[in-house]
Amino acid sequence: MKKLEHIGIAVRNLEESEALFTRLLGIAPYKRETVESEGVITSFFELNGVKFELLAATSEESPIAKFLEKKGEGLHHLAFDVDGIEQRMSTLKEVGFDLIHTQPKDGADNKRIAFLHPKSTGGVLTELCEDKGLAHEE
Ligand code: ZN
Repeated sequence: MKKLEHIGIAVRNLEESEALFTRLLGIAPYKRETVESEGVITSFFELNGVKFELLAATSEESPIAKFLEKKGEGLHHLAFDVDGIEQRMSTLKEVGFDLIHTQPKDGADNKRIAFLHPKSTGGVLTELCEDKGLAHEE
């Protein structure tokens, strides 16, 4: 893992939570992005190189809606920046981690992403993300 890239936080109401985190962090969100395939709308803050990704559900079927129902608002995942996401996924699998995704998928913020199952990561849902710009450079 190269570094902690962002911290994902599940929220019920994106406007209210943007206002709350603006007060808390002392900075405004710099973008919103919807990821239709995941049923989420995201809002990003960046504090000294670490991003905060607020995640709100866009439908009842969204994994975020299910998370909120089970656990309520709060910490959802930690995301680590990696190079060569496929290779990293297979290496982690070899050493015993359970992958939720067998192939990287498109995430917010121009990334390819994959999640590790929290049952294998001490209860912390863990995301691998790789910048698409880097992935497609030769
Ligand atoms: Zn994320």
